[in-house]
This record gives sequence, C-alpha cells and structure tokens, in this order.
Amino acid sequence: MQTMLPPEPTLRLSIDSHALAHNWRELDALSGDAAAGAAIKANCYGLGIDHCLPTLRDEGCENFFVAHWSEVDAARAHVPAHKIAVLHGPMRDSDVAYAKATGAVPVINSLSQARRWTQGAGQTCHLMIDTGINRLGISPGEISDPAIKALNIDTVMSHLSSADEESDANRQQLKAFRECLPHLSFKKASLANSAGIALGADYAFDLTRPGLALYGGVPRPELQDTIRQVAYVEVAVIQTRILSAGDAVGYNGAYIAETPMPVATVSLGYADGFLRVRGPGNALMYGEARLPILGKVSMDMVVVDLSAAPGIAEGDWLQVPFNLPDAAQQSTLSQYELLTVLGSRWG
Ligand SMILES: *Cc1c(COP(=O)(O)O)cnc(C)c1O
Repeated sequence: MQTMLPPEPTLRLSIDSHALAHNWRELDALSGDAAAGAAIKANCYGLGIDHCLPTLRDEGCENFFVAHWSEVDAARAHVPAHKIAVLHGPMRDSDVAYAKATGAVPVINSLSQARRWTQGAGQTCHLMIDTGINRLGISPGEISDPAIKALNIDTVMSHLSSADEESDANRQQLKAFRECLPHLSFKKASLANSAGIALGADYAFDLTRPGLALYGGVPRPELQDTIRQVAYVEVAVIQTRILSAGDAVGYNGAYIAETPMPVATVSLGYADGFLRVRGPGNALMYGEARLPILGKVSMDMVVVDLSAAPGIAEGDWLQVPFNLPDAAQQSTLSQYELLTVLGSRWG
C-alpha cells in the first residue's frame, strides 16, 4: 500500500518566531540583573513546544518550567533535562524515579513531597513557598522543618496571585517571600511571572518566570508597547451561500436573517479553542473587512456574514483576531484561556 501524507489542514496557526524571541529578550531586559526563564507548560500555552522552545533556547533562555512530568519528554528533545523544572513536583514514587532517570528537576511543594524526594535519594531540587495564593507550595511556617532542611535547593520560588492588578497582595507577598529567604539555603530566588516583571526590580530577584507575555499576552498596561503578537490564526471557508430573509443559522437557529445576505461557513469550532463565548459580538476578518459571527459556534463550524466582502469564495482564508488583550475583552475569556484551548488540529 502506498503511504500518503494527509492534505494540509484547513486551519492554520502561524507562530511569529521573531516576535517570540523579541518578547523573551524584552522580558529578560526588564528583569534587570535577573535572568528570564520561560514557562513552557501546556505545550507552550497551546502554541507548540517544538516551534517555541528552540527559539527561546537559541535566544539564551536557560530555565524552563512545565507543570506535569508528562511534559518533560517534549521539552528535553530540545534542552538538557536539568534546565527543566516540574512545577507540580513529585507526587508519586514513580515521579521521583522518572526525575532521577531523566535529570528533570522537581519543584518541591509540600513536606510530603520533600520527604519523598529525600527518601528517593533525589539530588538538586527547587522549592515553592506559598506566600498567599493558597494554591501550591509549603507555607512560610514550614521553611525550618527538617524535611526542608534536608533538601539541596537550587531555586526557591513563590508565585504572585494578583500581579496583573494594583493590589496590596503584591507587596504583601513580596514581603513574605523576602522574610523566608534568610532561613533557607539556596542558589537562586524567583518570584515574578510575566505581570510580576512589570512590577519592577524589587520583584525580579535572580530569575523571573514569564509565560503569558512570551506568547503575546499583555497582563499589565506597562507591557503594552513592548510585547508583540506571536500567534496568528487563519481558517478556510468550506462553503458559501446566500441566506433568504427568515433563514435560521446554526444550532438552535439562534440567528435569523432579516434580509437576504451572503454568508460563509468556516472550519473552526470547539476543538480548535473557538468556544461559544466567541460567537455573536465577535467577528472574523478578511483583510480590513469585518465578518460578524452569526448564531452559535456549531461544533466544528462557524458561520460569518460576508456582507463586507461578498466576493469571498470556498477555499479563501479568513483571519481569526488573535490580539490577545482585544480578543479577551471581546470574548470574556482570559488571555491564558484563549491560548491554551487552541487544540491540535492546526497546520
Ligand atoms: C505558569 C506559571 C508562570 C508563568 O506565569 P505567567 O502569568 O503566564 O507569566 C510562572 N510561575 C509559575 C509557578 C507558573 O505556574
């Protein structure tokens, strides 16, 4: 039997590697004396680790953060495992065994994780302290526990809950983090995510951990003129038709044409991260022409109004607006969600 590659998908996700490199360089510069690492979890926030990680590495990034152990393999195809930190830490003995076998470095988040790591004769690790997000990490009251004293800590870190806002929580977490440091022995300290970098030099310590802003997200206005869009999304028209007045479109006939109008059905749906909140009120673009979305996103398809560009035909490519701050405002999804739901059908 002859093997044949499948045809190109009718959805395209293009990554602007220059913009990604630019964003990392700018965030690294804004981090002052600290180095910028990169959060690469969730397949580089949906944009593709094989696309993004080599760019970040070649730009000089030395510290990479994934959430799950299952994400290590894809990362170590591109960088040495000792540069990969696993944020969820060793939850099971099998995680410890995997860390030792690969050299990926766990972030220890609890006394039980600390004991598991030490019992498994784990070497260098990182330590997460929870200074107020109440999500993951040991509490400041636990830093002098023998289980923590037994660790060989490379980077001690904490995570800000509200760095994207003007909030007292930022200063409180900074203070709590600073107070922990004299009680620990470690090589580097790390607090700031993307938004934290914009809070200023006090938050940078030795290593910053941007994620969202690398991929084009703008969590604070200070970063607006610095961060460039990285992801560009295009979808093909599958079919066009002329609706008559009274015709209903999509699931539940949620849109009803008032007058005859040209429309296009495009291949874009839930599995591609195009959730129903991106329906009516949002639009696709054809160059400068705005094509409003009609009715509900219906599984793998969206119908748009072609009135602004009636010449569009089957096979033409439309743009899905992916300026993240704007798309977030339009859709009520967060910039994180817009990226991470993208799915895997893109070409
Ligand atoms: C995801 C994550 C980051 C990156 O945060 P952004 O807000 O995307 O910049 C940094 N640190 C930790 C611990 C994370 O989980």
